Amino acid sequence: MKFQAPKGVSEYLPGRSVAFDYVRQTLTTAAVSAGYQLAELPVFEDTELFARGVGETTDVVTKEMYTFEDRGGRSITLRPEGTAGVMRAVIEHGLDRGQLPVKLWYTGAFFRAERPQAGRYRQFYQLGIEAIGLNDPEIDAEVIAVADRGLKALGLKDYRLEITSLGDAASRAAHRVDLDAFIAKMNMDEATRTKAAINPLRLFDDKREEIKIQMSKAPLLIDYLSAESRTHFDRVCALLDSYGIEYRLNTSLVRGLDYYTGTTFEFVHEKLGAQSAIGGGGRYDGLMRQLGGADLSGIGFGMGLDRILLACEAEELELLDSDGLDLFVIALGTESKFVASGLVNSLRSEGFNIDMSYGDRALKGAMKAADKSGARFSLVIGEDEVASGQISIKEMETGESQTLAITAIADFLDSF
Ligand code: AMP
Repeated sequence: MKFQAPKGVSEYLPGRSVAFDYVRQTLTTAAVSAGYQLAELPVFEDTELFARGVGETTDVVTKEMYTFEDRGGRSITLRPEGTAGVMRAVIEHGLDRGQLPVKLWYTGAFFRAERPQAGRYRQFYQLGIEAIGLNDPEIDAEVIAVADRGLKALGLKDYRLEITSLGDAASRAAHRVDLDAFIAKMNMDEATRTKAAINPLRLFDDKREEIKIQMSKAPLLIDYLSAESRTHFDRVCALLDSYGIEYRLNTSLVRGLDYYTGTTFEFVHEKLGAQSAIGGGGRYDGLMRQLGGADLSGIGFGMGLDRILLACEAEELELLDSDGLDLFVIALGTESKFVASGLVNSLRSEGFNIDMSYGDRALKGAMKAADKSGARFSLVIGEDEVASGQISIKEMETGESQTLAITAIADFLDSF
């Protein structure tokens, strides 16, 4: 029996895993630089948390959740997104009783039973941040700027930021009256009508041509913003302008999760084809109360690490090899190997990345291994070197060698 990975999962192996880790690290650095702190959360939660938190009518909840009964008869779901779990933890541990906003970042695997295709997986990776507790346009701009800073730090250029406001409860109520009247006159099947009755905004996200054509004339929420929502959104836009972050207003932007209110945004990459959204997020006003917590507002994003890596590859960016080897050590003979092993072990403890040749390889095979390792330097230790205490260290790229004392290797590597 030959095992294969389950259908549609993303995995990263040597060759790509370093670049993947670099993407994750770069976005992490952007989050940490703005004062966000790590929240390491479970990958499964009570099913009800997502049903209530993400929205009963969303595709994510109705079609895409990995739900199962555990041995205690509880209904468990593998997390399809990060915000609901973060809110659960904030409420459960009372994090919102301290200084506000609570600023958290998280990363890890997420699960959605979608039809797999390029850039769309059943297990995928996100890095997200959440700022919970205050409804302040400065925070909206900060969250967007963190994502943008991360993407720019990777060197990405061919992406755009789309932004809109879904308004507050008053804006949405005013819009809803006109939108419901508009939808009542539309042609659609019963299932769609039932969904639209619960959340009519979903129709803006419908991919079917006959719905898209009709919805192109539908009233837009942005034209119904209350004075307060309008002022908030204008301020967010002005802040982004002042930061030099370009954006495009997309008034029909609707995201796949039901909880968004106010500022809502998406980052879209131009070279990724159908699965072009590399991340997105927005403000959520009722979510925390909905999940049994205080009535606090929050805002966050989820960036799709798999697609961001694909975007870097599409732009042919050279991502830094963050865990490259400093040195590859080749030892010849049993006694030399013993000495080499001790040397490698102590250099590793000093913080250098070192690998060595194992087994009974001839020099030629070992040199090949050194080449393939991508190490910056290599050296060979045989009986002569052990006896004299001197080795020749070779820079792999130039082929140039230098002789020095074995005891001076650490200083030598440090000088680069
Ligand atoms: P969402 O939680 O739906 O707002 O998704 C946030 C980001 O996660 C998206 O912009 C994508 O980059 C990424 N993403 C969502 N679903 C998938 C998936 N099935 N496969 C790969 N990436 C995904």
